[in-house]
This record gives sequence, C-alpha cells and structure tokens, in this order.
Amino acid sequence: MKGQVAIVTGGSRGIGKAIAMALAKKSVKVVVVGTKQETTSQTAKELSNLGTDSIAIAADVSNSADVKNIFDSTIKEFGKVDILINNAGITKDALIIRMKDEEWDRVIDVNLKGTFLCCREAIKLMIKQKYGRIINISSIVGFMGNIGQANYSASKAAIAGLTKTLAKEYANRGITVNAVAPGFITTDMTETIPENIKTEMLRSIPMGRFGVPEDIANVVVFLASPEASYITGQILHVNGGMYM
Ligand code: NAD
Repeated sequence: MKGQVAIVTGGSRGIGKAIAMALAKKSVKVVVVGTKQETTSQTAKELSNLGTDSIAIAADVSNSADVKNIFDSTIKEFGKVDILINNAGITKDALIIRMKDEEWDRVIDVNLKGTFLCCREAIKLMIKQKYGRIINISSIVGFMGNIGQANYSASKAAIAGLTKTLAKEYANRGITVNAVAPGFITTDMTETIPENIKTEMLRSIPMGRFGVPEDIANVVVFLASPEASYITGQILHVNGGMYM
C-alpha cells in the first residue's frame, strides 16, 4: 500500500483518526477531513510525524462544493485517490415524536448525503485509474435499531444499500465498495451515553468489553489492502458479538 493516497472523512478524532493512523503506518498518504481546521491540522501533523505525507482539509461533507474542493485539493497535492473512507458521522438523538425536522435532515445530510457526495467524486477518479477502494462506516444500529436514533439508524441502514449498489455498478472497473458496521466503540461520540445505559449495553456484548477505535481501523485497513481484492458489497460487522 506504500505510496497510495487515502481520504479519511471525520479523520480528525475517534475512529477516523485511528483509521488515518493505521493507514499512515502502512505508508499511505492521508488526507484528513474534519469540521474544525485546528484539530484536523493537528491530526495531519501527527500523521506526518509517522513519516508519511498528510494534509488537512476543513470541510462539511454534506456540502457538494466542499466535497469537490476535498477532491480537487487531493489531486493537486498527491495526484490521485486510491482509498476513500467515509467515516464522518453525527448523532442528534430524540424519540421520533419529539424529533425536529432539522434533526432528521442534518443527520441524513451528513451521514448519508455526505457519503453519497464523496463516493460520487471518488468514483469519477477511480474509474479513470481503474482502481479504487471505498469503505463506508455504517453502524450496528442500522441493523438492530436503537431507541432515540430514528434518524441515525435510518442513515446507517441506507449506507448498506448505497454500498451494495455502488459495489455492483463498479465491480468491473477495479473498484471495491464495502462497509464496516461498528458496535459500541469508546469515542467522544459515545462518551455522553448515560452510565446505566452503558452498563446495560455491556451486558449484551458477548466479549464483555466495548470496542476501541483500533478494532475498527484494523478491519478498514484490511478492506483497503490488496489482500481484500475479491471482497465487494459486504457489510463487515465489528461488535464483539453484540449483533450476529
Ligand atoms: P466522533 O464524533 O468522535 O468523530 C466524528 C468525526 O466526524 C469528527 O472528526 C468530525 O469532525 C467529523 N465530522 C462530523 N460532521 C462532519 C461534517 N459535516 N463534515 C466533515 N466531517 C464531519 O465519532 P466516532 O465515534 O469516531 O464515529 C466515527 C464514525 O463511526 C461515525 O460515522 C459514526 O456514526 C460511526 N460509528 C461510531 C460508533 C461508536 O460507537 N463510536 C458506532 C457505530 C458507528
């Protein structure tokens, strides 16, 4: 994978940062995309310290002009895009009877439309290159449902449909498209979950522990590697046995 170029959305922290670090350790050049310039640049600096080239781009993946800029800047800096990791995601939880239009729209816009926009730009380039690896980050709740997450679970389930369709559309162009569906992973996103709910969740994980970002990063790096060349259209569940 040495010398390949990857774009990791939501790469500034949490799971995305772990993915970016794991790719950098394989000598992949990484474009880190995040909402905040400062934290995104800080992560890119940490990656450069590992000895690989890395740039930071502050962008909103739900905005098509921003997404175009991500890809234009990547081509200008590195000349190609081999790997796209659609990891940027947000939650805005509420029971559906209290869920505001804006909460529904924003989660769908970032999680689903953002993935669509980045896939569209990446695939245009990857078709020309006759090579590409796309990994979309879904979620266990897209498959199990979760109280208070109608918007989020719908966006993550939809990512599975998007992944399978793109896998079919471009399988004969050297492009694989897969998704990883994490279970409960300890990050800033899950920090706000109340302790009593966390204890209850832990009881439903056969392995008896929450995941760490590296548990997801290792699987993503495998799917992005040449060893995974015959895998496409798959949803890989990484959850300690919480959902089978
Ligand atoms: P996080 O909140 O720690 O990080 C989210 C990242 O996305 C940040 O870098 C943020 O800057 C970026 N981001 C948010 N909105 C953006 C936008 N509009 N444009 C560009 N970047 C944006 O979250 P995390 O826990 O690391 O989750 C990463 C992904 O994994 C998400 O898609 C999340 O839904 C998914 N996931 C997480 C868990 C978990 O337990 N943590 C479980 C299943 C799935």
